[in-house]
Amino acid sequence: MTATVIALPVNQFDHFYRGGDRIGALRHGPGGPSRPEEWIGSTTSRFGQAPQGYSVLPDGRLLVEVIDEDPVVWLGAEHVARFGSSTEVLVKLLDLGQRLPVHLHPNRAFSKTHLGLSHGKTEAWYVIDAPVGAEVGVGFKNAMTLDQVSSWVRERDSEALLSSLQTKVVHPGDAMLVPAGLPHTVADGVFVLELQEPTDLSILLEWQGFAVDGAKDGHLDLGFDIALQAVDLSAVTAADLDQLVLPAAQIQSAGLVSVLPAQADPYFRAQRIDTSGGPVGVTAGFSIVLVTEGQGVLVTNLGAFEVAHGDVVLVPFVAGYWKLEGSCVAVACRPPDANAPDGR
Ligand SMILES: [Zn+2]
Repeated sequence: MTATVIALPVNQFDHFYRGGDRIGALRHGPGGPSRPEEWIGSTTSRFGQAPQGYSVLPDGRLLVEVIDEDPVVWLGAEHVARFGSSTEVLVKLLDLGQRLPVHLHPNRAFSKTHLGLSHGKTEAWYVIDAPVGAEVGVGFKNAMTLDQVSSWVRERDSEALLSSLQTKVVHPGDAMLVPAGLPHTVADGVFVLELQEPTDLSILLEWQGFAVDGAKDGHLDLGFDIALQAVDLSAVTAADLDQLVLPAAQIQSAGLVSVLPAQADPYFRAQRIDTSGGPVGVTAGFSIVLVTEGQGVLVTNLGAFEVAHGDVVLVPFVAGYWKLEGSCVAVACRPPDANAPDGR
């Protein structure tokens, strides 16, 4: 198949926590009650459960195979020279019908040592919707010892874990980076577009009340003694969290705005595109574009494609410099720049 701009069908599946109706409404999917995630333009499989997670194109082929066959066309020569045929990014919609259990993701050094993988899982959230006052918890307020965290996990002490986290209220339109290693939770009712490194590596610190057996599936098959070495035990202040957030007021303007702090640059890019001031041009490169408002036309070297609220389109490198016209807002999720600094 020749690379072209492709509208992606919805890719929701069953998971251990509740939610998913807003994904169904936005993306014409099956909705909930236990399909809180959509993996979008995914070349990543679920941990130990391939091919689950991979995006299937409308012609029935897996995106990961299509890109592997011709990575330069999809990703560009510079990207391939630096990163090979990896898209470097996993994009999801997360519609929480219950609080996310406190968990964390390993960094690259841990993944390499213990799992033989080149990626960890730094992630970022672009908030589509959130109840008033909804909080996220990210990182420990006070520096912790591994013994203390281990005993909370062993004793299933969710209350102690939750009250140990630094918290921040999030609003629709905010964006936040969550560096690998930091334990985190997100309140019930929050709906985010999520960017992550392309792995499915989660370590659970609690699982009481969730339909998952953390003792079996919460430690990446490493056992908690090793898995908990991935936890960032350092103290995170309110000011530290502020550094990781770009508030809606700073992001919501006409044109193209980068929605993540510079600390995200080694991992991925997210660009908000708002045509209220006229057509917006975007540099060539692989992009996963979610239209969050209105409708418009994506004008590329390969033709013009109509898009509307809820659509997701894959834009290959060969589409060239492209423009979004019309009356819409979209978020383009992209790999890091080919010259980005190394991640950790
Ligand atoms: Zn996470």
